[in-house]
Amino acid sequence: MDLTSPQTIRYIKNKYGFNMSKGLGQNFLCDPGVLDEIVAAAELNKDCGALEIGPGFGVLTSALAKNAKKALAIEIDARLLPVLDETLEEFENVKIINDDVLKVDLPKLIEENFSDCTDVSIAANLPYYITTPILTRLLEDKNLHVKNIVVMVQKEVAQRICAGPKTKNYSSLSILVSYYCVPEMVTIVPASSFMPPPKVDSAVVKLSMREKPPVSPISEKAFFKTVHAAFGQRRKTLVNALCGSGIYTIPKEEIKKVVLSLGFGENARGEELSLEQFCALSDALCDKIR
Ligand code: SAM
Repeated sequence: MDLTSPQTIRYIKNKYGFNMSKGLGQNFLCDPGVLDEIVAAAELNKDCGALEIGPGFGVLTSALAKNAKKALAIEIDARLLPVLDETLEEFENVKIINDDVLKVDLPKLIEENFSDCTDVSIAANLPYYITTPILTRLLEDKNLHVKNIVVMVQKEVAQRICAGPKTKNYSSLSILVSYYCVPEMVTIVPASSFMPPPKVDSAVVKLSMREKPPVSPISEKAFFKTVHAAFGQRRKTLVNALCGSGIYTIPKEEIKKVVLSLGFGENARGEELSLEQFCALSDALCDKIR
C-alpha cells in the first residue's frame, strides 16, 4: 500500500469514514521525496529503534519499520487504531500506543521497548498545535537517551530552531535547542505535500543530541530564566528586558552594572548574545533571581 499516494489516503478516508481533525493537527504527508529525506536524516539501521509521535495513517511508521529494528508510535486519536491495524499489517516490528505524547512516560517506554536496540531516533511529522511543548519535553528530559530527533515543524519554527545570534529568527527556542543539540535544516516542505494542505509551509529539522551542553551554567534553571527574560520583550534593550521581567531582586542600576561589567554595551539586545555570553550573564545574576 503506497501511503504517500493521495488516492490511497482518499481510499482509507472513505473506507473508515475518517475525517481529519484540524484540532489534532491531522495533515498527512503525501510526498515520497520528503518521506525519504526524513528517514535518511534519522540515520536508521537494523539495530536501532525508532520512536514516532503521531503516526496518522502510518506513512512514516511503515518507512521507520522498514529501516529500523523496531518502530514504536504514539497516537492520541483512537479512531486511527483500526486504520493502522490494516496499513501496518505486514510489519511485525511495529507497536502503536494509544496515548497523549505529553502524558506518557517516554523514558520508560523507550526502556521497555528498545532495550535490545543500539540507539534510538525520534521521527515525527508533529501536530503543530503542540510543537513547542513536545520539543521542550523531548529536549529537557534528562532520562531520554536518544541519538537524534528528526521533526517536521512549521517553517517559521524551523527557522527559529536553526537561527544563530544577531539574526531576526534568534529566540529562546534557538538557545534551548542549541543547548541540548546541534540543529540542522533538512528541507523546506510546501503545504501541497500534505492532505489536507495546512495554511503554512513546513520544514524538516534534524536535532543531533549533544553528549553534554556546550556551556555549564552554575544553575540551568537560572540560565533558562535569564534567556526567557532577555527575549521576553524583544524591542527592549537587554538591561530593560531583564529589569522588566521582574525576576531579579536587584534594581535596574545594578542589573546595568552587571551587564556593563560583562562587556555588553548599554544598548545591547538579547538577540546579540551567544550561548556562552548568556551563560556568563546568568552566572553573574543567578544569586539575584527570585
Ligand atoms: N505521521 C502522519 C503523517 O506524517 O502523515 C501524521 C502526522 S499529523 C501532522 C499529526 C499526528 O499526530 C496525527 O495523527 C494526530 O492525531 C497525532 N497527534 C496529535 N496530538 C497528539 C498527541 N498529543 N499525542 C500523540 N499524537 C498526537
